Amino acid sequence: MASPKKKTLALIAHDGKKADMIGFVKDNIEFLKTFNLVATSTTGKMVMQTGLKVKRYLSGPLGGDAQITALVATGKCHAVIFMRDPLGMHPHEPDISSLLRICEVHDVPLATNLSSAQLIVKGLHKNLLKE
Ligand code: PGA
Repeated sequence: MASPKKKTLALIAHDGKKADMIGFVKDNIEFLKTFNLVATSTTGKMVMQTGLKVKRYLSGPLGGDAQITALVATGKCHAVIFMRDPLGMHPHEPDISSLLRICEVHDVPLATNLSSAQLIVKGLHKNLLKE
């Protein structure tokens, strides 16, 4: 069950970026344990193999990005790490655009590549230490 004290972080990776996501998760595993993690289905399944607990939503093309968008819009998700593959074609492009837009609308931290994901981790870490 999700801890009410923890903030929620969403993890999503396109197929071409799943290896990057798993590397990122392994490098930051202790930090990631301090969040309630949510993810799209396949990403979540892979992240769970590292031993982390994850609430999985639908796969991205089936509406998982839209479900995470709804969490962001309703204040139930506090940061998004979305490793996008800019070279791939995605049938759910409208859902992806919507997630990016809703993160902007609600000023929710959003990383769309590995370098910015690492910066978000550093920033959130600093922020949590202040609380
Ligand atoms: P997946 O979905 O984690 O189920 O692969 C991610 C996506 O393609 O948006």
